[in-house]
Formats: sequence, C-alpha cells, structure tokens
Amino acid sequence: MALAILLSALAMTLIVGLRYLAASGAFALLTRRRHPALYAGLDRQIRREIGWSLASAAIYGVPAGIVAWGWANRGWTRIYANAADWPLWYLPVSVLLYLVAHDAWFYWTHRWMHRPRWFRIAHAVHHASRPPTAWAAMSFHPIEALTGAVVIPLLVFLIPIHVGALGLVLAIMTVMGVTNHMGWEIFPRFMHNGPLGGWLITAHHHQRHHQFYGCNYGLYFRFWDRLCGTDKGLGDFAYDRGGAEPRAAARSGAARQP
Ligand SMILES: [Zn+2]
Ligand SMILES: [Zn+2]
Repeated sequence: MALAILLSALAMTLIVGLRYLAASGAFALLTRRRHPALYAGLDRQIRREIGWSLASAAIYGVPAGIVAWGWANRGWTRIYANAADWPLWYLPVSVLLYLVAHDAWFYWTHRWMHRPRWFRIAHAVHHASRPPTAWAAMSFHPIEALTGAVVIPLLVFLIPIHVGALGLVLAIMTVMGVTNHMGWEIFPRFMHNGPLGGWLITAHHHQRHHQFYGCNYGLYFRFWDRLCGTDKGLGDFAYDRGGAEPRAAARSGAARQP
C-alpha cells in the first residue's frame, strides 16, 4: 500500500512537472513570436524560475498523488465520474465554486505572505522574477508552494465535482498561472476592461502586483481586492504605449519593497 501511494505521488509529480513545462514552454514560444525582445537578457532568471517551478511540482504532486490514490482505491473525495449523479446545471456551478474558493484562499494567504517577515521567508522567491516571464508560473518557495498545493486536494473532499469539471478547473489554473506572468496580455479587452473585466484578473492586473507589491493580491477575481481596498487597477505594458524597450517600465519598478 505504501508503495502504491508513493508511486501515485511520483506519477502526479511527473504529470504536474510536465504540465508546467508544456504550458510555460508553449506560452514562452508564443511570446517569442509576438514580442521577440520581451525576454531578452533574462536567461539566468528563467533558469531559476524553471528550477523553483520543478521543485514546486513535487510539492504539488505529493498531496495530489495521495488523494488520487485514495479516490481510486478507497472511495475518498466527492469527485464523481458519472455525469448523471448531479444535475447538468451543477457542472458550471461546481467549476465556479472551485475558482471562487481557490481565489479566496489565494488572496488571504498571499496577503499574509506580504507581511515583511513572511515575505522574506516564503514569497521573495516569487518576486525575485523582475519582471516575471511565462516560466514563473510555479516559481515559488516550498512554503508558498505548499499553501497552493493543498487547496484542490482539500476542496475535493468538500465540494462535489465531476472529474471532467475538475480537469477544467486545473486547466484554468494552469493557463492563468502562466499568462498572468507572461509580460503581455493575451486575452481580449472585455476580460480586463469594462463591466466584466472589472471583476476578472488577467495579466494586466497581476502585472501591477509585480510592479508595486502591496496591491492586487487576487488570483482569478478582483472581488477581495475591491472589497478590501487593495485593488490598484491595471498595470500597463510598454508595448501598449508603443515603447521601444518592452520591459523597461517593469524594471524601473524593480527596486520597490513590499
Ligand atoms: Zn505572481
Ligand atoms: Zn506577491
């Protein structure tokens, strides 16, 4: 049994690691085509981002592997495979519930990690990427990685979800983690401006967190930032303004402290 759990944890680590390399790699390639100079001179930083991210993959893989084993062998969790077990309308609702719960957890743990003592210990690694790249999606200190790694494995015990809907949640988590750090906006305007954009988080919003630190803590939604007065609006990208050196604006904010 112990061996089976170990193998499950190893398999999950491998899956999370490969998923990271595939997603970040794909968006890094896209970045090179759309904004060829964006990551110029960042090779050392990118190597560091990949190193921390692969370490995080192991930390994400272990709880996920244990829960996956328990799901398959012990009937753990409220994940269901038969779509008829719950009404169809519950499929999108469950996805939204997971995103809202993860967002709340992320907002408060992220704010806590911006307290000076914990910033130095747990979160400085993530902010050492100045400016972050598509490879920074999982560039976390192990303590920060642990706060992220437990969320979904805990939620599956609390909130029923179809296995396919869970896959969608994980896909959204992966894509937003990469694109929010990519250094340019891939999503259409309505997702960061206007009535809907005012509540959603994309690269424009998280960019400002990496520039100014003490604001824009959220993950998917601007709800908590707006409620708690920590939403400082959208950052801008130099290419939006027609700037010649795309990352100059971000670099000038590099000396700021949390
Ligand atoms: Zn970030
Ligand atoms: Zn932060």
